[in-house]
Amino acid sequence: MNEVKHPKKPLIYYYSIALLVLMLINFLAVPWLAERQVKQVDYGTFMSMTLDNEIDQVEIQKQENQILFTDKEGQIYKTGMVDDPDLTQRLFDSDADFSGEIIEQMSPWLSFLLSWVLPIVIFIGIGQYMSKKLMNRAGGANSMSFGLGKSNAKIYVKSSEGIKFSDVAGEDEAKESLTEIVDYLHNPNKYKEIGAAMPKGILLVGPPGTGKTMLAKAVAGEANVPFFSMSGSEFVEMFVGMGAAKVRDLFKQAKEKAPCIVFIDEIDAIGKKREGQIGGNDEREQTLNQLLTEMDGFEENSGVILLAATNRPESLDPALTRPGRFDRRIPVELPDLKGREEILKVHAKKIKMANDVDFSKIARMASGASGAELANIINEAALRAVRNNRKNVCEADLEESIEVVIAGYQKKNAILSDKEKMIVAYHEIGHALVAAMQSHSAPVQKITIVPRTSGALGYTMQVEEGEHNLMSKEEIENKIATLTGGRAAEEIIFNSITTGASNDIEQATKLARAMITRFGMSDEFDMVAMETVTNQYLGGDTSLACSAETQAQIDQQVVDLVKKQHEKARQILQDNRRKLDELAKFLYEKETITGDEFMSILNASTNRSAS
Ligand code: ADP
Ligand code: ZN
Repeated sequence: MNEVKHPKKPLIYYYSIALLVLMLINFLAVPWLAERQVKQVDYGTFMSMTLDNEIDQVEIQKQENQILFTDKEGQIYKTGMVDDPDLTQRLFDSDADFSGEIIEQMSPWLSFLLSWVLPIVIFIGIGQYMSKKLMNRAGGANSMSFGLGKSNAKIYVKSSEGIKFSDVAGEDEAKESLTEIVDYLHNPNKYKEIGAAMPKGILLVGPPGTGKTMLAKAVAGEANVPFFSMSGSEFVEMFVGMGAAKVRDLFKQAKEKAPCIVFIDEIDAIGKKREGQIGGNDEREQTLNQLLTEMDGFEENSGVILLAATNRPESLDPALTRPGRFDRRIPVELPDLKGREEILKVHAKKIKMANDVDFSKIARMASGASGAELANIINEAALRAVRNNRKNVCEADLEESIEVVIAGYQKKNAILSDKEKMIVAYHEIGHALVAAMQSHSAPVQKITIVPRTSGALGYTMQVEEGEHNLMSKEEIENKIATLTGGRAAEEIIFNSITTGASNDIEQATKLARAMITRFGMSDEFDMVAMETVTNQYLGGDTSLACSAETQAQIDQQVVDLVKKQHEKARQILQDNRRKLDELAKFLYEKETITGDEFMSILNASTNRSAS
């Protein structure tokens, strides 16, 4: 969900302003206005009016050093005080009334106006202003909000932000499956006539940032129907105690607006498996139950299509995915090489690009990046171009921004000591050289040894020339050897080891473990799964499914496997010691080495050593 949320000013903010205005009025404006009605006269006039019995009420204000009085018509007068000991007696004789309430009653309807009518007007004004603001917030240009405070589902009356399938690059399979939905929304009768029913719910599953939200919006955009969207975590977090009511509300609105799309992002937040845990989340279960009830409640072909997105499909409650509910699942995977190139091009349209940018090269360099990351790469490149005072974005900007997005910004002031820099250079070249010497490993695209904000001291960009869908046992072993190559180089050259290999170690272990427990690549366990992946799209955590003894055996095998590859890497580097030195020296001096430079040094020295 990418709705831009305006920072909300709390209600109390507006009311305190109103209160402040009120207080100002009462303290300043009322007395001031009242004052203006008072006629200032001299003491002589006051005395003669007293003698003529013209005074109705009188109030002696010692502190202000003034006397207020009224005549028989109610006009208020004011005069300064003079030392006049007989005054009280004279006033008494003249039948004046010492009420002392002149100020309060001097303008009853004016003060009523000021202290009652005006505030009410102000409050109404603020109320209207705020509801207008809320309306805008809830929808944007072409939307409207239903029942303030009733439901925050955003309703996009026409297409949502005008996103079409063409805006979503790659993901052809997902688009194909969704085209059917669009067709159905355009022409439901075609389906009804034949008796075919559209699935009620479709689950978009895939890693974060692959365009699931975009696809859902695009379906609404293509079909030109309203788009309701809501995020699962919103249900849980924002509407404490009201989740079920919100679900009911959402469906009520959707049915009124059918045909339409209802999109629930992060459905796993409400749809998690209901396990009999102690102290389970009642609130969430009620919300989920309500969702299930609603889904069963609306009949097929009602025109409401539910789309939901998640990156933890395995954690969803089976009740949610059984037939008749979210029974269709569309994988939205990380883009492949072609997909990455297309996504880059789609986003590049929005910025000024130099003409000679090779997008396929950039796509190859950004292997494993998600759509969101690619969009980010383009943006970073544009920012870099601006920073360098250029009018358009060139290829170097893109190359640098890949590293920025994947490895973080260059740390400008983190200076490596010479010794450290040398170690890092050997370490990175160690990886690359082992990779290059094993025929099946991918060649390097570029190595840099500039420290990054992510904490990496060096960065090797490996490039897979084609797409790899299957990996052979040998390829995985080579990959492990490559991962150990950095440490191996340190051992050979410096005869000591550093902490710089922790990430390599983690990856190598993961791979080795997967070979044994999941890919059936060990001799002992044959095709028995010892582990299952618990979250495929987020890090790929696994849980063991074997006895403690087997576990110990697995651990031993993992160690053996990594050891063997580490030994292999060390051997490769020792055999190519001269190339290792030469390449590391180049990297140390230049801080960057491209794949081409690397290969030419490698090949040149091969020739020399052969001759
Ligand atoms: P998800 O919902 O899968 O986490 P989004 O749909 O919110 O991902 O995508 C986030 C951003 O990434 C989008 O706004 C878009 O800029 C970019 N993006 C992701 N996938 C694609 C794609 N296939 N084509 C174009 N842009 C994409
Ligand atoms: Zn390393």
